[in-house]
Amino acid sequence: MPKSHIPEIPFAPVRFQLALLKWYAGSRRDLPWRTKPGDKADPYRVWLSEIMLQQTTVKAVIPYYEKFIAKWPTAAALATAPRDEVLAAWAGLGYYARARNLHACAQVLVTSFPLNEAGLRQLPGIGAYTAAAIAAIAFGEPAAVVDGNVERVLARLFALDTPLPSAKPLIKALAAKLTPASNPGDYAQGMMDLGATVCTPRAPSCKLCPAGHLCAAHARGMAERYPLRVPKSRKPVRRGMAFVIVRKNGTGYNVLLRRRPDKGLLGGMMEVPSTEWAGGESAVGNAPNGSAGWKFAGMVKHTFTHFHLELDVVAAKYNRHVKIAEALDGEWIPLEKLAALALPAVMQKAIKTGLSALSFETTHSSAGSAASSASNVSTVERSARPSTKAGRK
Ligand code: SF4
Repeated sequence: MPKSHIPEIPFAPVRFQLALLKWYAGSRRDLPWRTKPGDKADPYRVWLSEIMLQQTTVKAVIPYYEKFIAKWPTAAALATAPRDEVLAAWAGLGYYARARNLHACAQVLVTSFPLNEAGLRQLPGIGAYTAAAIAAIAFGEPAAVVDGNVERVLARLFALDTPLPSAKPLIKALAAKLTPASNPGDYAQGMMDLGATVCTPRAPSCKLCPAGHLCAAHARGMAERYPLRVPKSRKPVRRGMAFVIVRKNGTGYNVLLRRRPDKGLLGGMMEVPSTEWAGGESAVGNAPNGSAGWKFAGMVKHTFTHFHLELDVVAAKYNRHVKIAEALDGEWIPLEKLAALALPAVMQKAIKTGLSALSFETTHSSAGSAASSASNVSTVERSARPSTKAGRK
């Protein structure tokens, strides 16, 4: 943005910086990836946490972060882990491209960890915000760190009348002007905490705010009016049909899964075969004929960033060998191994729905708070359960 278009800051930036840093020292959130104010941060931990925090809440990230650090305490350990193991540990956290990029990125970090924002931007899965956050927190670079929380704080601080998303370049420019040359890591984390705990989207606690005396929106008594936003268009609905196909294998059962292409939505993840996900009516009217053993199991709904998905699940169980895996480019996976697989949330829901319709009991093994609707699936065939009466004899 041309400098001439950036409004003057109506107070000395140092007033805001000092107020924020003082508040952060006393009110900061105690998070497992953070060091104490002024202490040197571990770049690997900062990087890992920032990737996990993309589009995901702090509460959901904490158990995943702790699991990853316990399993892979260094970039070298993560780099040598099998990719499927990393994807499995990520299951339930969503936005799976992050896990693939995390693994790819670890291979680079082992040999050379870029020490500045520009170098970090070259790495897979690291965008403008993440690069700035790592550079500021881990390397003390005065990078302008702007996420949704910071956008809200600055839009209010300056009572910006330009709505988001058009206001983004302006906010970024104002953020750069406000960022201090000294202690930018604590400043960046202070801004994040201010937005998350005080300058909240609804009912901001202006009376507790360290910047209350400088804030234009507060002075006008209109804090909640900002940031202005262009109304969002509604997400489209896509529909498709998913096939949960189970085949007897000795004393157990296998389910047919296949791997999605590496590029694109849920890239590289395992899935049950499904039709294309497109706009239009429900596909269940075209489901395979019931006489062939197929049954409609139910509809699964899931929301992705850009669309809602309604997936009609049909299921079939074969007690004999069927040659279907080759045609669908799939593989038969024993049901008891499902829980350990890196299945995206929507596929966990589809499999649970399909298996339930086929009289397999499904139980949840929660992978953390982020996975409230994305539990791993483990199964037992209802008819194969031991009789409790017999057990009491
Ligand atoms: Fe946000 Fe209120 Fe603080 Fe302004 S005074 S930055 S609106 S919490």
